[in-house]
Amino acid sequence: MTIRHHLSEQLLTGYAAGQLPEAFNLIVATHVSLCDECRARLAALEAVGGALIEEIEEIAMGEAALEAALARIDGLPQATQRAPLKAAGILPAPLADYIGGDLSAVRWRRVGGGVKQAILPTGKDATARLLYIPGGVAVPDHGHKGMELTLVLQGAFADQNDRFGPGDIEIADQDMEHTPVALEGEACICLAVTDAPLRFRGMIPRLAQPLFRI
Ligand code: ZN
Ligand code: ZN
Repeated sequence: MTIRHHLSEQLLTGYAAGQLPEAFNLIVATHVSLCDECRARLAALEAVGGALIEEIEEIAMGEAALEAALARIDGLPQATQRAPLKAAGILPAPLADYIGGDLSAVRWRRVGGGVKQAILPTGKDATARLLYIPGGVAVPDHGHKGMELTLVLQGAFADQNDRFGPGDIEIADQDMEHTPVALEGEACICLAVTDAPLRFRGMIPRLAQPLFRI
């Protein structure tokens, strides 16, 4: 798997600091489980974060506390040695754990044009859903009120900006409008996360929006 589109520094930092909504944690953990590069970046951020906390503790508690903290760090396994998580099916381990199984455990709902989606239960501050887009089919043209992250699990899609294959993550914000189209061939299965409802341009998708919560 050659991954060309990665997590932003902002997302990795937010994840390391435990400040992201649940749906965003899920997509970050899933990408990191597939991507050596982001796993290494995250480990570096966690090391910096840990060092900062120890520094604050040192100021607060003096030398003895620092030595105790350093002894504790020595005893910890190195974050960089964490092995990639492997799963047997299409879904990476963090996602399969979340769903409680592989694709067969997903309860799809049809949204028209052969497109199916399954909304995953997460905190209400952001929405996570799995999308199934048959080869050659487009997702309606839309803009974004907030941030939308799309992680490809199978197949590939392209939009006005670029092409995204397995493991790639697209980061779209309120300035972006796009029409993702699944490439011909194998259906494209993605995990998509949004922190605000999408603004659909066409009338019918806009009417359907409250029904499908997309
Ligand atoms: Zn990455
Ligand atoms: Zn979008």
